Amino acid sequence: CGIIGILGDHQAAPLMVDALKRLEYRGYDSAGIATVANGVLDRRRAMGKLVNLADLLVTEPLAGFAGIGHTRWATHGVPSVANAHPHRAGRVAVVHNGIIENFRDLRAGLGGSGESETDTEVVARLCEDFIAGGMPPKDAAFATIDRLEGAYALCFLFEGEPDLLIAARAGSPLAIGHGDGEMFVGSDAIALGPLTDRLTYLEEGDRAVVTRAGAQIFDAEGHQTHRDTTRIRVDA
Ligand code: GLU
Repeated sequence: CGIIGILGDHQAAPLMVDALKRLEYRGYDSAGIATVANGVLDRRRAMGKLVNLADLLVTEPLAGFAGIGHTRWATHGVPSVANAHPHRAGRVAVVHNGIIENFRDLRAGLGGSGESETDTEVVARLCEDFIAGGMPPKDAAFATIDRLEGAYALCFLFEGEPDLLIAARAGSPLAIGHGDGEMFVGSDAIALGPLTDRLTYLEEGDRAVVTRAGAQIFDAEGHQTHRDTTRIRVDA
């Protein structure tokens, strides 16, 4: 299972599929990507091998320079297209590795019904709920993360926000990649290898506001903090 996020100056979909291929070694049962193009959030998901997602993208392309991608190893809900990530609620799309332990409580608090059997879906729904209540996307994502219990690496993408990713780490590794006017999020240095060798690893409880100008990192208490950026070369 793995995560990729891109704020680039090229079409993101092929770069994300390539990054997910580099994460295949972790195992997965389905995969998906979401992008923002002309402000519009959209996604494609497919069961099984990444070639199925790549084939789908030939018949139903997904444009956009900003995106998030995911390979899923199902923990809650069978492997299926409906349970594949990114999960979406309104203006919010999210990819998640790990387990949200308190998803039943959060789901009960939201009322209504979702569209999947996953623990992850509640993350998108809660965040959309905060935005619907008037919060800007960044604040909504942080308020959502504050409510989560469990182990997760998360990356959020928002409709109308082609220059924003929110990333969070609790129990699952996640790195920020620095390009030239481009920024990336990835599960590891291998995923980001062809994109950049300048990486900032999030520490436990960290969340990051990522734009093409750079990343602001906040610790679990919400204080802005510094994490070292290192050069890690991985054969592309
Ligand atoms: N718990 C989530 C799910 O079952 C994420 C699984 C993963 O780490 O890929 O969809």
